[in-house]
Amino acid sequence: MKKLFVLTTAFFILQQSFSQTIIQRDPEIEQMVKEVSSDSLQSYIKTLVAFGTRNTLSTQGDPKRGIGAARNWVLGKFNQFAKESNGRLTAFIDTITYQPDGKRVDHAINLGNVVATLKGADPNDNRIFVISGHMDNMRTNVMDSVGDAPGANDDGSGSAAVLECARIMSKHSFPATIIFVTVSGEEQGLLGATFMANKAKKENWNIEAVLNNDIMGSNNSNETNIIDNTKVRVFSEAFSVQDTGRKALMIRQLGLENDGKARQLARYVKEIGERYVDNLQVVMVYRNDRFLRGGDHTPYVENGFAAVRITEMNENYYHQHQNVRKENNIQYGDLQEFMDFEYLRKNTALNLCNLANLAKSPSMPPDVKIEVKKLTNNSIFSWAKSANGKIKGYYILIRETTSPVWQKKIFTTDTNITLPYSKDNYFFAVQSVSETGNESLPVVPGIGR
Ligand SMILES: [Zn+2]
Repeated sequence: MKKLFVLTTAFFILQQSFSQTIIQRDPEIEQMVKEVSSDSLQSYIKTLVAFGTRNTLSTQGDPKRGIGAARNWVLGKFNQFAKESNGRLTAFIDTITYQPDGKRVDHAINLGNVVATLKGADPNDNRIFVISGHMDNMRTNVMDSVGDAPGANDDGSGSAAVLECARIMSKHSFPATIIFVTVSGEEQGLLGATFMANKAKKENWNIEAVLNNDIMGSNNSNETNIIDNTKVRVFSEAFSVQDTGRKALMIRQLGLENDGKARQLARYVKEIGERYVDNLQVVMVYRNDRFLRGGDHTPYVENGFAAVRITEMNENYYHQHQNVRKENNIQYGDLQEFMDFEYLRKNTALNLCNLANLAKSPSMPPDVKIEVKKLTNNSIFSWAKSANGKIKGYYILIRETTSPVWQKKIFTTDTNITLPYSKDNYFFAVQSVSETGNESLPVVPGIGR
């Protein structure tokens, strides 16, 4: 069998003097990544656009037009995939009645998210990983629920990515649970995502990561004529809402501003994405979302979950939130003809490999500590065995304080290690790794006295 080896992210991006760990691709994930099809993504978007408008306030009674028809079709696709899942995938439309809010909802609506759950195979593993996109869209006027709004890229692209991941992944079995969701109400004020994130918080769902995909299938900007389908952005916030009081003091004292859970997730998405998806660079942006703008990951972030936004490198505002029209020889509107389905394929594969690697990983090592009993230039770590999964061992991750990415991975099968790197000069984390090389999210050590 042909063996493929790839180097860690740091080699490509920083080319630092550190030696690099060689990591083998998991053949199962590599195979799934190969199955991501630009044709299938294009066909989903063609169908979504054909619903005329998917504005959240649009009709739900028409079988061919409006948000109601669109969400029924998405449910139908999930149910079709479920047939090949051996009963592991189940789907439904999770609805609430949303009352007029004096803002972007002017009449009572039946707000619905289409949720497909691929139940984890390990009954002791309650971890959940979420991929999200929004089905709804808008014209120039967000309250216009009647006129045509194609929404091919915003957010046909994210919805198509969710469907494609569900199609491929539902044929496989993972220890942890994956939720594929297309929400509505994003343009009306993140309503669908807020509904789901609040529910997850209230019901104590163990969501370890949310990948929100919004506007990810077009490769060019309007002003600069930049065309580039080799880069994608992942936005993450520094702090979590739980980082208050003593925790906040500790973050300041230890300089852990870039080691919050969303940023760790972003770093993970970059590393795993670049491991499995060729010719794609994942560009981390150190803010929760684009300048003064928002998205569906934010309600999760506000409920204390790790959530990031995945979005294209260059946005084209001629095609975003615009009525379809021609003005001064410029074609406005979010039309399919402006999409790059090969780019969308890579960005979908980025989601798939991350969801698969997370859902196949053992659970995060508990009780990770760095010992500070005496002053030493070594760093001494200990942790407990991960509760779930087939554990091969653990990686100690190391990076310089100014490095955005992990630069070294040191493998051990023990649950403690002493390393000749001073804790004054480096950041560390520990992650568990499965027999097939799938890493958990990293855990930043607490203080051990
Ligand atoms: Zn959007």
